[in-house]
Amino acid sequence: MPATPAWPPASTPRLFVDMPLADGAAATIDGAAAHYLLNVMRLKVGAPILLFDNRSGEWLASVADAGKRSLTLHIERQTRVIEQVPDLWLCFAPVKKARLDWIIEKATELGVARLQPVITERTIVERVKRERLEAQIIEACEQCGRTALPALGEPVKLAQLLSAWPADRALLFADEAGGVPLSTVAAPAPAAILVGPEGGFTPRERDLVLENPAVRRIALGPRILRAETAAIAATSLWMAQHGDWGGGA
Ligand code: SAM
Repeated sequence: MPATPAWPPASTPRLFVDMPLADGAAATIDGAAAHYLLNVMRLKVGAPILLFDNRSGEWLASVADAGKRSLTLHIERQTRVIEQVPDLWLCFAPVKKARLDWIIEKATELGVARLQPVITERTIVERVKRERLEAQIIEACEQCGRTALPALGEPVKLAQLLSAWPADRALLFADEAGGVPLSTVAAPAPAAILVGPEGGFTPRERDLVLENPAVRRIALGPRILRAETAAIAATSLWMAQHGDWGGGA
């Protein structure tokens, strides 16, 4: 007897909608999302689609009506409740555009709870385009299966970040000038990782960071990593050790 195929199929598109979802509700989709569903995915009436709202979780919907530039979805049932994301913040000095997009996308896939841009003396990026980072976050969540979006903090100066640092949250300071291997540091959630810009931290900034009692100085091997490499390496190590990757180190 052939097994009945899973429903909805694995290829079902997933879409973030910034509205509360509920059984029997309707959602109207327009703009770029509608273009993607209508013209790229070529969804027709009756086609399934998974929606998530960063509030309740994920819901199965189907196309009730398909117009030229918009479509109406009928929400059928909840498929998942919103997940608990490991309480890890990634605090990073914004780097150049493509690499910054990469940090945002990979850290979202890896499961961080918060992305916090930090302006340091050697940060070369003037302005962080919030809408661009938010779009990156949403696209990564749609792809990786998250139903809870990571929070995106407003850019904050390093001194300000440290002065308001929550005492109960370990701050893992990625420092190529010293530190112990992350695997030797017990820093379960709530925790955070701090990574510098292309030019690194100044000696004055290093002293300021190391003064904070919540700080643990960590080394990520003997080589100088690019900021984005350090951010993703440290996040991966923490997730494997303390996050939701199962087993725990
Ligand atoms: N000061 C570095 C140099 O001498 O070229 C440049 C900084 S590095 C490109 C960017 C950031 O990645 C650093 O501020 C640090 O947070 C992190 N990083 C790079 N390599 C690291 C390592 N081996 N251990 C810990 N953190 C590292």
